[in-house]
Amino acid sequence: MLEFEIIQNANPMTEADRALAFQNLGFGTLFSDHMAVIHWSADKGWHSAQVTARAPFSLDPASSVLHYAQEIFEGMKAYRAADGKVVLFRPDQNAKRFNASARRLAMPELPEEDFLAAIEKLVAVDRKWVPEGNGGSLYLRPFMFANESFLGVRPSKEYIFCVIASPVGPYFKGGAKPVKIWVSEDYTRAAVGGTGAAKCGGNYAASLIAQAEAGKHGCDQVLFLDAAERKWIEELGGMNIFFVFNDGSMVTPPLGTILPGITRNSILTLAKDNNIAVQERPYAFDELQADAASGRLVEAFACGTAAVVAGIGELKHRSGSLTIGTGETGAVTTLLRDKLVGIQTQALADSHGWLHSI
Ligand code: PMP
Repeated sequence: MLEFEIIQNANPMTEADRALAFQNLGFGTLFSDHMAVIHWSADKGWHSAQVTARAPFSLDPASSVLHYAQEIFEGMKAYRAADGKVVLFRPDQNAKRFNASARRLAMPELPEEDFLAAIEKLVAVDRKWVPEGNGGSLYLRPFMFANESFLGVRPSKEYIFCVIASPVGPYFKGGAKPVKIWVSEDYTRAAVGGTGAAKCGGNYAASLIAQAEAGKHGCDQVLFLDAAERKWIEELGGMNIFFVFNDGSMVTPPLGTILPGITRNSILTLAKDNNIAVQERPYAFDELQADAASGRLVEAFACGTAAVVAGIGELKHRSGSLTIGTGETGAVTTLLRDKLVGIQTQALADSHGWLHSI
C-alpha cells in the first residue's frame, strides 16, 4: 500500500470566503484547497503519492493525453450527516469501475486500496469543504491521464492519477421539477466493442454535440439510442434511465454498451427491497412511444451520482414530443429517490452497508 505525503496548502480559502461561496453552490465550479496525486511510470510503477495544494499541472505539448485522449475518470460524492459524520457512497464500486475503465483504455490499474486511500486522505484534509445538508455534497473527481512526451500511437509509459474535490448543490437547476430529454437520432454514443462501458473522456467529447442539440431544443439531457440500429434505448449523456409501467414494474436497458452506473445498480437493489419487479432488457424507442400513447408507461427517471434520481416529464425527438405519465415526477420515482437519498444522508438505515465513513 502506498504511503501518502500530506502537504498542507499554505494559502487555503478563508472561512468567510468559503461560507459566502457555499451560499450559492452550483455544480463543478468551486474547488477545495487540496488534491491527491499519484504518479505511475513503466519502470517504477505507482509512486510519489501526495495530498497537496490544488495547483495546475505543467504538461509537455507532446504529452500523450493531448493527442490520443488516453484518459479515464470517476465521479462520487461525500455527504455530511446532521451529526457531522462524513460518508462516501459505495466508493469500492468506483474503485472497481475505474480499473475496468483502465483495462479498456490500456492503462495501468490502481490497486483499490490506493484509490480509496487517495480519496479518504483528500476528504480528511478538506473535510470542512463537505457542505452540510440542503442537498449539498462534496463531489469527488478521481481521474488518470497518459503523460508521456511521445507522439507514436501506443499506450503511454507514464500516467498521473489525481483526485480533485468540488462542493456542489443540485445538478439540475430546476430543482425537483421533472427534466426534459432530447432523443438523439443523429448521433450515437457507443458501439459494440467500443468504449461505452468505460468512463473515458473521449466518450463525453463525442457526446457534446448531441448534448448541445438537446440544449437547443430546451432539454436538460440527451438520450442515446444504440449505434447499430438506432432503435434501442441506451442511456443519457451522464445518467442511466428507468421506465415505470402501470402494473408497477420497471424496465432499464441491459449492461453492455452503457456505463454500469452505481446509482443504477443501487436502484435495482432498492427496487427488490420494495417488491418492485425490474427487467434489465432492451427497450425500443418505438415501444416507448407506443407505451406512452397507450398509458402503459407512467413514469421515467434518470439516475446517476450527480443528479441522484430525477423524474423525466417529457421526451422530445425529431418528429415531435411525448409526455410521460402526468408529466410530473411519479410516485415510484419519488419512493426510490427518497430511499436512496435517505441512505446517503444517513436519515435511513444503511441496510446494505453502502456507506463508508471518513
Ligand atoms: N451513464 C453515464 C454516461 C454517466 O456519465 C454516468 C455518471 N457517472 C452514469 C451513467 C451514472 O453512473 P453513476 O450512477 O455511477 O454515477
